[in-house]
Amino acid sequence: MRKIVLLGSTGSIGTQTLDVVRNNSSELEIVGLAANRRVADVEKQVREFHPRYVCMYEPDAAKELQEKISDTGIKVLSGMDGLLEIVSVPEADTVLTAVVGMIGIRPTIKAIESGKDIALANKETLVCAGHIIMPLAREKGVQMLPVDSEHSAIFQSLNGEPADKIEKILLTASGGPFRGKTRAELENMTAADALKHPNWNMGPKVTIDSSSLVNKGLEVMEAKWLFGVDLDRIQVLVHPQSIVHSGVQFTDGAVIAQLGVPDMKLPIQYALFYPDRRPMAEKRLDLFELGSLTFEKPDTETFRGLKLAYDSARIGGSMPTVFNAANEMAVRRFLKGDIRYLEIYDMIEEAMQHHDRIENPDVAAILEAEAETYRFLSEKYNI
Ligand code: MG
Repeated sequence: MRKIVLLGSTGSIGTQTLDVVRNNSSELEIVGLAANRRVADVEKQVREFHPRYVCMYEPDAAKELQEKISDTGIKVLSGMDGLLEIVSVPEADTVLTAVVGMIGIRPTIKAIESGKDIALANKETLVCAGHIIMPLAREKGVQMLPVDSEHSAIFQSLNGEPADKIEKILLTASGGPFRGKTRAELENMTAADALKHPNWNMGPKVTIDSSSLVNKGLEVMEAKWLFGVDLDRIQVLVHPQSIVHSGVQFTDGAVIAQLGVPDMKLPIQYALFYPDRRPMAEKRLDLFELGSLTFEKPDTETFRGLKLAYDSARIGGSMPTVFNAANEMAVRRFLKGDIRYLEIYDMIEEAMQHHDRIENPDVAAILEAEAETYRFLSEKYNI
């Protein structure tokens, strides 16, 4: 029985994780659930999965949920303190982090310190704090199990082979809804345009990041930390069909990749049963129906998100945090209609230029770099 605490239970990955748990209820158990503020959704989840702990990040939502589920006797935690408590409860052995954003960093560190295996669907944790997280995970002997589809594909392709057998990681990208568009065409793109992802059904933040290739940039950094390869050995390929989920080229030239229909339940299930591979009754890949698979070089001149990500990763230290924080703020503003699409890149670039890199930042310095980035951009853009 794997006993799971799920952070981000109402989001896209969170609800699909609960689907996987529902389908494997004799072997997977939800011990804790945490979400931001969707009380009605969490109440339903609590009544179905009977966790022992639940946390609503927003205090008002926690109060509301507490009243609604008072008949269950479950205590509702709240805020960052609540997240830090729920990831370290003795009943859990695995924490699946599916929260979006830098909010995932402290709970992940706390979970590792408490000896929990991590099923990681929160990119920002490794992007900003990979230099803290990976050594800590090794020291505590906990597993870092990737849930992101690409990283799961790489993990499956590696299947235990050590990092020194990797010649190159082949990280695929769908290219998103704006693939093939010119800079001039991107000028007037709206949030509604960017939210139409061709293959994957994801939350709004990740969908915008996918359209701008910022998501792929974050995934390059995540791959670097997870698999211990340097940036020059991570190659991004645009693969519009999203069938090859990523792969590895080994030192003998062999390429092993993982293919499948785009469905997040597979990487979630693989992480939760690792190293075992379990049956799953979902749609099967039909290569005849598909006919062909295509690959292109990413257009990093137009989609500057990827290039800025490599730049920030090469600079290192606190710079990836600034890249990520600037993007988080820019995407929030873009979704509200406050800025134009291409200004997402401008905001990232300006924030990076403004920042003085800190080497080896601790968590406090990471959070300060985030806050400084928000201050700088609010002032500069008057938002
Ligand atoms: Mg991905």
